[in-house]
Amino acid sequence: MRTPATDRSRHRVLVVEDDDTIGRHLQTGLRSNAYAVTWSRTGIAALTEAAHSPYDVLLLDLGLPDMDGLDIARALRTRHPDLLIIILTARTDDIDVIAGLDAGADDYLVKPFSLTVLLARLRAHLRRRAATSPPQDPIRLADLVLDTTARRCLLHEEEVPLRPKEFDLLAVLAQHTGEAIPRETLMAEVWDENWFGSTKTLDVTMASLRRRLTQAATASTQHARLPRITTLRGHGYRLER
Ligand code: CA
Repeated sequence: MRTPATDRSRHRVLVVEDDDTIGRHLQTGLRSNAYAVTWSRTGIAALTEAAHSPYDVLLLDLGLPDMDGLDIARALRTRHPDLLIIILTARTDDIDVIAGLDAGADDYLVKPFSLTVLLARLRAHLRRRAATSPPQDPIRLADLVLDTTARRCLLHEEEVPLRPKEFDLLAVLAQHTGEAIPRETLMAEVWDENWFGSTKTLDVTMASLRRRLTQAATASTQHARLPRITTLRGHGYRLER
């Protein structure tokens, strides 16, 4: 399934690599693990791309035809302090590793590297970033208030009891109110980035989430209004305020 450029629920990765085989390998591997990937083959192309679109992760080869990757790391670190920069390099000397980290990289992998190790490092870095990101304001949806920092779901001040996955599912939809979220993205965000199994779990969790919200609204003495969760057949779901 193609990922629309506006799909903000996936992590966006800019791959900068002039080697066709490695670039294609990275692109395929990352896409099948629910990352949104753009691949630039030159330094200039990468800088242009990064200036026009926001990225979460930069996977950077150092030996590029037009520029030294270290200069790209320095430039993008200054402009985008939150960007996760991982250097992919065939240079193994300590001095090169130190230069890479000093240029602003968060991590490095020596070629040839294994895709599974790269994916594990990405998960670890992104998890740490999510844990240290500032608390988010509660999201108000009709009469429902979703506080992802406190992990509370309130309807007219009354707690709606949700199971952890039901809460996570509602949180992903709420953070992208009005957007169509593909099933694959929900599976990746709520369950596991490496999920390849049945997506029946998603339907079961969605059904129980809807049931719990409806029960809470019915029990409310103040005629509480709920946000609408629309099923998009063959695609996914969309939450509307
Ligand atoms: Ca290269």
